[in-house]
Amino acid sequence: MTSLRRHRTAPFVAAVLVGALAAGCATGGETDVSTTAAPTTLDASVVATSVAPSTAAAAAATTSSATTSPATSEVTTTLEPTTTAAPTTTAPPTTAPPTTTVPAFVETRELGRSVQDRPITAVRRGTPGGRVVLVIGVIHGDEDDGVAIIDLLEQQDVPAGIDLWLVESMNPDGQAAQDRHNANQVDLNRNFPADWGPIGVPGDGQYAGPSVASEPETQAMVAFVEEIRPDLIIWYHQDLFRINPGRGRDGAIRARYAELTGLPLVSITGGTYTGVAATWARRTIEPGVAFIVELGATLSPEEAQVHANAVLTIASEPN
Ligand SMILES: [Zn+2]
Repeated sequence: MTSLRRHRTAPFVAAVLVGALAAGCATGGETDVSTTAAPTTLDASVVATSVAPSTAAAAAATTSSATTSPATSEVTTTLEPTTTAAPTTTAPPTTAPPTTTVPAFVETRELGRSVQDRPITAVRRGTPGGRVVLVIGVIHGDEDDGVAIIDLLEQQDVPAGIDLWLVESMNPDGQAAQDRHNANQVDLNRNFPADWGPIGVPGDGQYAGPSVASEPETQAMVAFVEEIRPDLIIWYHQDLFRINPGRGRDGAIRARYAELTGLPLVSITGGTYTGVAATWARRTIEPGVAFIVELGATLSPEEAQVHANAVLTIASEPN
């Protein structure tokens, strides 16, 4: 999925940034002409199929697994392999060093439906049973440049040992409307069961919803995280261009991600931070780590690649 994006002008960015500092994260949004339509090719809840070996030596780690044969199609779970269509740009098989090819695995699962009945979909890649890593591209609908990072992670080689789950958008309604909230005007990042408290009324920037975890999007993510219990979760936002520092293991991993991407480690302050998804997740998956990455106002394809690589790097490093 490629989206065409228009970028803000610098003065507007500055204005938004100032406003965002108070709000916790930006309320403005990219004009994103892409639709949020989830990949409709896979209807089954669990479909495993293989991806053709790609050349990308990107962040591929060495795998000594016996399954390094360049076989192109190896259906792991037989569930009508009607769509074997991997997003392949057929690469010459000779160029792929067999030792760095990770056994291909793809599973697509619908986690739930949004208020307006759009699917919330997760794509699983890498090594089932490995270190569980979850990346969410969008929670605030108008902060959706993280989609480009997810798109890359859906295509490039995953180092061995990572059980990678990718949720392009947990707020498809908000993304379609280019609105921060879901279709009930709730700020999903104030709706999670972590010190939840009432904030605002419908339409307010940080409206927390009528009750804790009242929204179907929140419920879908809560159930999913409790089920797969990731060791690492990343949520993308915009456009403060920073990562809030942390402590201990959590802080070390944040610092490493910041180092890899050039984002400064700077505190996020000024908002009312109850019901925040990453806070809830951090408590739920402890000693696992969950944190927010505040991208800038725009994200070039090159920058998206830097972030995708950073995800795979921190996911594959001992930390
Ligand atoms: Zn945000």
